[in-house]
Amino acid sequence: MPEVSDVSSPVSDIGPVLDVARGRLVTVLTGAGLSTDSGIPDYRGPDAPPRTPMTLQQFVGDPAFRRHYWARNHVGWRHVEDVSPNAGHRALVRLEAAGVVHGVITQNVDRLHTRAGSRSVIDLHGTYARVVCLDCGDLSTRAELALRLEAMNPGFAKVAAVADAEIAPDADAVVASTEGFVVADCLVCGGMLKPEIVYFGENVPKARVAEAYAMVDAAEVLLVAGSSLTVMSGLRFVRHASRTGRPVVIVNRGRTRGDEFAAVKLDAGCSEVLGALADALPGEHLPARTGVAAGNSPRPAVLPGA
Ligand SMILES: [Zn+2]
Repeated sequence: MPEVSDVSSPVSDIGPVLDVARGRLVTVLTGAGLSTDSGIPDYRGPDAPPRTPMTLQQFVGDPAFRRHYWARNHVGWRHVEDVSPNAGHRALVRLEAAGVVHGVITQNVDRLHTRAGSRSVIDLHGTYARVVCLDCGDLSTRAELALRLEAMNPGFAKVAAVADAEIAPDADAVVASTEGFVVADCLVCGGMLKPEIVYFGENVPKARVAEAYAMVDAAEVLLVAGSSLTVMSGLRFVRHASRTGRPVVIVNRGRTRGDEFAAVKLDAGCSEVLGALADALPGEHLPARTGVAAGNSPRPAVLPGA
């Protein structure tokens, strides 16, 4: 991946972030830029090719599109499980363990925060690992569906995988070879299945949005890492934090729609900056968070034994 011009040492750049975050509880909002160092492409990053994201309307309204989607997904979805969390994910785990990070709201569907070991994670846009029925709401695992699709389309995945190399579950590939692919319906009601992922044209479930607002409110700083905040589903938390007096720190390669709300903006990669923050913040920060309720202002006490 080509390096963006970033001549200065990121470590020397984090001073302004430390000034804002030191001694304060931080909620983190992450996007695709956090997972690029794991090898998952960021379709909105500065080096991204232009592409048209899939919409819910396409998925629901066009059986051929849906067949193509599931055929493609059947081939590609396991690639996401071959991907490993990177230094940025691990830094957030350390910051959570140190009591600096209250929780992570992620726009990524790759589950890498959870797999890295972060405990308080809101998967704002769902995850690739679950499937939802659009008719009855039944939730099931993607792994279960894989067995069904394999039984209904014996050998398809192996043959198609040869023609296919991309990772993203919504990638548009192997068009010619999806004719005849059989799509699975809900085992409970026969309804239409969809990955439990929030697509363009679709709303994040209300309860999940409320949970995310509460996570922002429970901290004193909102740190955005690796998101251009292109969609409102993420930008609204930045606006909310700013409106409620919580400083917003943005770490992202390239401009974001939230820059005007940022107290500090770092045009840099997530792995380096979050790693440097994890090195710098604990030890001068709060003891392990116990009984910090929303709205409290957790002031640092003496760190036992540190
Ligand atoms: Zn159903």
